[in-house]
Amino acid sequence: MFDIGAAFSGTYAEARGKFVAAARTRVPDVEANTHPTARGAENEALAIDAALVGEIASASLLVVTSGMHGVEGFAGSGCQVALLQDDVVANAIAHAKIAVLFVHAANPFGFSHLRRVNEDNVDVNRNFRDFDSTAAPNAEYAAIHALVVPDRWPPPPEITQAIGNYLARHGMRRLQAALTRGQAEFADGLFYAGRKPAWSNLVLRELLARHGRERARLGWIDLHTGLGPWGHGERIYNGPDEAAAIARARHWYGDDVTTMYDDTSSSSLLTGASFHAAIESCPGVEFTGITLEFGTKPQQDVFNALRAEQWLANHPDTDVATRQAIKQQMRDAFFDERDVWKAMVYAQARATVLQAIHALAT
Ligand SMILES: [Zn+2]
Repeated sequence: MFDIGAAFSGTYAEARGKFVAAARTRVPDVEANTHPTARGAENEALAIDAALVGEIASASLLVVTSGMHGVEGFAGSGCQVALLQDDVVANAIAHAKIAVLFVHAANPFGFSHLRRVNEDNVDVNRNFRDFDSTAAPNAEYAAIHALVVPDRWPPPPEITQAIGNYLARHGMRRLQAALTRGQAEFADGLFYAGRKPAWSNLVLRELLARHGRERARLGWIDLHTGLGPWGHGERIYNGPDEAAAIARARHWYGDDVTTMYDDTSSSSLLTGASFHAAIESCPGVEFTGITLEFGTKPQQDVFNALRAEQWLANHPDTDVATRQAIKQQMRDAFFDERDVWKAMVYAQARATVLQAIHALAT
C-alpha cells in the first residue's frame, strides 16, 4: 500500500510537481496549458496540466478534474496523484478499456494564491454562462453584498448583528442560496461569475472538445471541498435538469447521488456550472457528470473564511500578519492536514472513480 498522505502537497508548485511525476509513470506526455500572464504566489508559472491514460482511442472517456475552485485543489490534487499511483485503479482502467483524462488545477491561480476564485476574482464554476444573453441580476445577493463583504475586517458589531438578523429571519439555506447562485454585478464580491469566459473556462472547453467530442460516452468527476459533513464525500449530480441523465448518474453511483434541482443536495441551485462546458464542447455525446464534494469545516466557518479572504483581496495593503492569518484560515476551511481526513477523502474518491470506470467499460 502506497503512502496516501504523501500524495497531498503544501503548495500549488509542489502539487504540480507530484502530479506531473505521477502521470509520467503511466504515460510519456503530460500536457501543460500555461497561463499567458498570471503568476503564482511564489512567482512560479501557472498551468492546467492534463494527462490522458488508458485506452486512448476508446469510445468512453472519464474526466477527473481538480482545483476548479483554486484552494480546493489541495484535496483534489492529492486524490489525482494517489489515483495515478494506485495499481488497482490502473488495472481497472486497462480492463475496462476506457480512456481517463486527469486535469490538474483547473484554476491554478486560486490554488497557488489560496483563493477560491481566479486571477479576476471570478468563480470559475459560475463562469460557464451564455455571455451573449444577459442573465437576470441576483437581487438577493445585491441586498446583502455590503454585509457579506464589509469595508472593515473583522466586521463591526452592527454588521454581525445584521447578518444574525438575516439568518434569524430567513435561515442559513436562504443565505447560501443568495450567495452561491452566482452574481455578475459585484466584481469585488463573493461568487462573482465574471462578464466574459475566464481563461480556465476556455482551456477546459478546448480540452473537453479535443479529447471528448469523438467519443460515445463521457463521464466527469469534478473534485471539490467545503460543503457537507467533515470527511464525507457527497456525489452531486452535475448536468442539465434531465430525468434520464440524473437516473443514469444514480445507476452509476447509487441512489445517494444528490441534485441541486430538488432539495437533496448540500449545494444550492447555481448558474454557470461547469457541465455546460461538457455538453457544449461534446454535442451528441452521452454525458454523465458529478461533483464530488468533501466536507471540511462547519458552514459558518467556511462562510467567514470566504468573507475575510474577499475583504483581504479588496484591501491589498493589509499588513503581513493579518494577511497570513486570513490565508491560513482560508486553507483550513477547504483542506484538512490530518491523515485521517486525507484517508477518508481518498477512499471515497477512489470508490467513486472505480464506479465510473466500471460504468464506462467498453
Ligand atoms: Zn468548489
